Amino acid sequence: MSEEKRDYYEVLGVDKNASADEIKKAYRKLAMKYHPDRNPGNKEAEEKFKEINEAYEVLSDEDKRRNYDQFGHAGVDGQGFGGFGGGSGFGGFGGFDDIFSDLFGGGFGGFGGGASSGRRGPARGADMRINLRLSFKDAVFGTEKKIKIKRREACSACGGSGAQEGSHPHTCDKCGGSGQVTMRRQTAFGMMAQTVVCDKCHGEGQIIDNPCPHCHGSGVEEKERTIKITIPAGVDNDSVLPLRGQGHAGSNGGASGDILVYINVQEDPIFKRRGDDIYVELPISFMQAALGDNIEVPTIDGKVKMKIPEGTQTGKEFRMRGKGVKNVNGYGRGDQYVTIRVETPQKLTRKQKELMRKFGESLTNKNHQKGTSFWDRVKGAM
Ligand SMILES: [Zn+2]
Ligand SMILES: [Zn+2]
Repeated sequence: MSEEKRDYYEVLGVDKNASADEIKKAYRKLAMKYHPDRNPGNKEAEEKFKEINEAYEVLSDEDKRRNYDQFGHAGVDGQGFGGFGGGSGFGGFGGFDDIFSDLFGGGFGGFGGGASSGRRGPARGADMRINLRLSFKDAVFGTEKKIKIKRREACSACGGSGAQEGSHPHTCDKCGGSGQVTMRRQTAFGMMAQTVVCDKCHGEGQIIDNPCPHCHGSGVEEKERTIKITIPAGVDNDSVLPLRGQGHAGSNGGASGDILVYINVQEDPIFKRRGDDIYVELPISFMQAALGDNIEVPTIDGKVKMKIPEGTQTGKEFRMRGKGVKNVNGYGRGDQYVTIRVETPQKLTRKQKELMRKFGESLTNKNHQKGTSFWDRVKGAM
């Protein structure tokens, strides 16, 4: 960007305080005048046309205009030309054709091109990505969720044709509907043939004389929809549920895209999950561990009785078959693993300590086999 740029307001011939409407009007007037269709081969008009488009691209965008007002060209340069209309969820607006389709669809139909974008043959609609956070239980048992989305759908007024009710787009007479024309040029190297985008229909292959007032000829509109998602039992973090054909509408007969639901599962304080298996840590008392007990273990189905045998050590793992998560693809159920944590008693009274000491004196090496063999090994190693 070495060349000096003119002030954008000056380019469009509007006041610094001009309203969005005034800017649009001024742009339309100038764009009409300098449009390449009206000035074939006129380099100066082409440059002018580029300049007014660039100015409009900035001044028609609230954010860019604010940046420009504050920082001048430096505030908007490098953002690239053609980000028109971005952020609306439509994405992908860009270039002259689209600026024209947007503007001229609004009442300048029949002028030069002014067809809508994206009509270059059937194109599949864009996919939509949605992140969905689920509770542990919802992921394990499955659920139904309703989510609000905004998606591009075929315009309800024109059914996606982009033409006003009662009218139809007609095939471009310049390119015969192919959207391309072959130009022959005499050059220093002889006759050169070059296939370029048809300038009359802007590559669309058809021309809309009376654009649909609802969608301004684009054939699409953004709709807010509430989508019901059935979450199957057994989904886990990073599961992706594709909702086929529920994404953005395709264009020109193309299929709709998908909604891809990315699952994110909240952690549970009790149940940890690895695949279809569930892991639980179970604290038991030192008495229960020594004497054995019938205890209750939490499972995702509720409490289940389990027998703790006499002399159970801390860290011992018990397996509860079929008490895990239902496999999301229908391959049975996982297991639950219960890891025992023996809790050492705390805050003993004097009386309890006394009893404990007496009890301790009664213990022999037989009662603590692990400890005894450990110290035997230590002795042997030193
Ligand atoms: Zn429409
Ligand atoms: Zn054409």
